[in-house]
Amino acid sequence: MHTVRPQEFYSIYRKMFSHFGPQGWWPGRTKTEIIIGAILTQNTNWQNVEKALANLRKAKLLNFKKLHRTDDVVIARHIRPAGYFNVKARRLKNFVRFFVEGMNSDWRALRSIPVEEAREKVLSVNGVGPETADSILLYAFDRPTFVVDAYTKRIFHRYGVIESEASYDQVRLLFMDRLTEDVRLYNEYHALIVRLAKEHCRARPVCAGCPLKDSCRTGLRNFFAGSNG
Ligand code: SF4
Repeated sequence: MHTVRPQEFYSIYRKMFSHFGPQGWWPGRTKTEIIIGAILTQNTNWQNVEKALANLRKAKLLNFKKLHRTDDVVIARHIRPAGYFNVKARRLKNFVRFFVEGMNSDWRALRSIPVEEAREKVLSVNGVGPETADSILLYAFDRPTFVVDAYTKRIFHRYGVIESEASYDQVRLLFMDRLTEDVRLYNEYHALIVRLAKEHCRARPVCAGCPLKDSCRTGLRNFFAGSNG
């Protein structure tokens, strides 16, 4: 991990924000949908998640109490478009059980305790990893926790901030140590990272036109090498 001043993180944010504008995340209609989407989106794209959500909506199952009473096999059938449907049905049911039985279906329960404690609780649900837990807490519960994904690691490694083998928690803390604890900032920052990764910092980077090209180590190297990406 390299030494980077907090200002650099704000500068990266501002460059992405002025280039792309606000992203309006998360793409779910309700908090329940956000959570279900965060669990289903593992290893698939959002279009497939949308199809699974549409099936659940049609079956009137976008409701934790109803999902709690529904058999895993039935849930699996509805979420089939999201792939790994048996595993995901179990994971979804695990979270639903945690919320309905463990939290008494009370949305305030995860809001009224320190964020790290809330995170530990969500992480204790079998099948919920750090990225899913942080997405659920940030986007459904408005808790200030930074979401790290493969895009974050790719961009910030190429930029020259982190080592390629940096762990999830190392990267998360790097951001959280340098940014003000602010739900809106964390929300928008992650959404902008995803946008940048899709438009410019792809598997093969397209540095021309990237808002970070003048300060990114890889972008500058490509520029001086006369390469676009
Ligand atoms: S300048 Fe290139 S390598 Fe750097 S963030 Fe942009 S696309 Fe990625």
